Amino acid sequence: MDRELRLETRIVHAGEPVPRILGAVEMPIFQSAMFEYAGETDYHDLKYIRLNNTPNHTVLHAKLASLENAEAALVTASGMAAITTTLFAFLSTGDHLLAQNCLYGGTHDFLTRDFPSFGIGYDFIDADDPGSWDAKVRPETKAIYVETLTNPLLELADLEAIAKFASAKGLVSIIDNTFATPVNFRPLEHGFDLSVHSCTKYMNGHSDIVAGAVMGRREHIDRIKHKLDHFGGSLDPHAAFLLHRGVKTLSVRVRWQNESALGIAKFLASRGEVARVNYPGLPSHPRHERARRLFSGFGGMLSFELHGGAAAAKRFISATKLPIKAPSLGGAETLLTQPAVTSHAGMTREDRQRLGITDGLVRMSVGLEATEDIVEDFAQALGK
Ligand code: PLP
Repeated sequence: MDRELRLETRIVHAGEPVPRILGAVEMPIFQSAMFEYAGETDYHDLKYIRLNNTPNHTVLHAKLASLENAEAALVTASGMAAITTTLFAFLSTGDHLLAQNCLYGGTHDFLTRDFPSFGIGYDFIDADDPGSWDAKVRPETKAIYVETLTNPLLELADLEAIAKFASAKGLVSIIDNTFATPVNFRPLEHGFDLSVHSCTKYMNGHSDIVAGAVMGRREHIDRIKHKLDHFGGSLDPHAAFLLHRGVKTLSVRVRWQNESALGIAKFLASRGEVARVNYPGLPSHPRHERARRLFSGFGGMLSFELHGGAAAAKRFISATKLPIKAPSLGGAETLLTQPAVTSHAGMTREDRQRLGITDGLVRMSVGLEATEDIVEDFAQALGK
């Protein structure tokens, strides 16, 4: 697909089969585990669902690669399959990883609990403090791993410096771009080698599948695919079909969520009951200027703290009528969680406090409802 076309057009048209399959406007589901031999000589080229190379996979690969201006993409059975397979493609026994100190819980646990049993080392870094990174690099350091925006505090690290540092030190730079989506940020344009996604979230956008993806240079994606072929975290064709369908509305959904989240963040910031709002689109965000420079939009995730701590947060959440109290993010429905007793309950209170995750913090995934309805609902809940 012509890279000159705008992102919105590529979201719809990139990767679509030419000619259309029997004229079908939408990509049909090829629910067949294997395909007849067509002259393949290498095992990894046989068409088989586990090898992620059936028609539903290949069209998605081309579409997703186009969205982040990557040479290639690979879809996976989940975001964690994308993350773990990517890390294992570049790290083996004796190697070392530098990783941002605040990561999605599953990724954090993978490093801290699973890496040691494979003899892979890691060090956490403050990804917003470039001066501190040099001291942590070892001769065996192979890669550096960060997230575009952290969960649940929406911190924005010095991403450009991370990509430059990785390139200077010969490290593979990997970024989890789930929160931003290619609509708001395209990491490869800023020097990152690989962008991973939980497509369970915004990419699919309808909270009805689990899927993942990784985008980057062909040589890197081939290396990851080889590992994925063996680990087996391939995406089922029906889930691939749903992801393909979901991606087609990515830009309208994310733009709506950008607008709505900004409106809700401004409303919350104006209320006396609210002690702090974490949203990169607010001038009060410590890295607002950086977010303006790097992002096309500030995203649909925000968090806020109420005066009155955990009890006030609990009261507020249960007084709201529209948002669903559920984990995950990026779907049509607005979701609320209280990280101290949900996603980050596994940490000690001291560790949470050190990271800035207070007991009164509320995390929100802004959905596709009318902003005014959410604001009115929040106003009545704050009043209680
Ligand atoms: N990365 C981020 C930022 C996430 O929020 C999640 C899930 O919540 C994941 C990765 C893992 O994705 P999945 O649940 O699709 O395996």
